[in-house]
Amino acid sequence: MAEIRGIDDLRAVLHDAQAHRLKVSISGSRHSQGGQTYIAGGVVVDMRGFNRILAIDSATPTVTVQSGATWDEVQRAIAPHRLALKVMQSSNIFTVGGTLSANAHGRDIDVMQVVDVVQRFGLLLADGRSVEVSRTTNPELFSLVIGGYGLYGVILDVTLRVTRDELYEQRAVSMDYTEFPAYFAQHIQPDSSVALMLVRPSIDPAPDSFLRELVVVTWRRAGAGHAATFDLTEEEHVWRDRFFLGLSRRFDWAKAL
Ligand SMILES: Cc1cc2nc3c(=O)[nH]c(=O)nc-3n(C[C@H](O)[C@H](O)[C@H](O)COP(=O)(O)OP(=O)(O)OC[C@H]3O[C@@H](n4cnc5c(N)ncnc54)[C@H](O)[C@@H]3O)c2cc1C
Repeated sequence: MAEIRGIDDLRAVLHDAQAHRLKVSISGSRHSQGGQTYIAGGVVVDMRGFNRILAIDSATPTVTVQSGATWDEVQRAIAPHRLALKVMQSSNIFTVGGTLSANAHGRDIDVMQVVDVVQRFGLLLADGRSVEVSRTTNPELFSLVIGGYGLYGVILDVTLRVTRDELYEQRAVSMDYTEFPAYFAQHIQPDSSVALMLVRPSIDPAPDSFLRELVVVTWRRAGAGHAATFDLTEEEHVWRDRFFLGLSRRFDWAKAL
């Protein structure tokens, strides 16, 4: 395992691995579940220390970060500028590099995959050269690397389109999955105030509920007259939630709590 803090560290690790004919895998927060971040008998480069916020441009608005930064770190940096991420997974623990490599989706109705907010990135190739990649510069690498699970090089710094803070109103409804297409067509697609949507199927083991019942959560732009602070809030009740999740994994009755 090699902890990376800068490009020189990376080049040295790659050089050393080549000299010893070792394979290299790249890891961010290591939450992907296919084992791509580990290579048996090889070298794992741990990118989490390569996490500086390099530039925030409130005018465009964009942010440039090193790929080991987590979304949590990016959010903390851009929030004071009243900026927010446009595409992020359902949690902010993942790294930017791991997210690009999976081409993860978020909740935004219009901008679904992270590729849509990537302007450019730097890439370190296996031979030690670093190249600039965008839709117009090395475009083939752009489409290979995003969603490429670390196969084509190490993502270095990334420039992402971000968005200005907006106030949303959250609503949740539950329904059978067969009702969802009509609900989406009538209540979500034509409603331009809906900005984000998340649909979760039930894991209650009861046969009439399991993967049938859906909870559809939407976030609509709040109209005039609503006020709230844009300050980031910290996660709450983590141990309580972990306790109940642990219970529900062991006992079916706890899934209904
Ligand atoms: C609780 C949970 C919720 C999730 N929610 C969502 C969701 O809402 N939407 C969604 O789309 N996905 C979701 N996922 C999947 C998640 O987006 C991916 O697993 C993502 O890759 C995790 O990022 P990571 O930093 O942990 O990456 P890692 O697991 O560390 O790495 C993932 C891949 O990226 C490569 N990689 C990492 N860093 C770099 C780099 N700098 N350069 C090149 N390659 C690199 C690795 O080699 C590996 O192939 C979720 C996963 C979990 C566990």
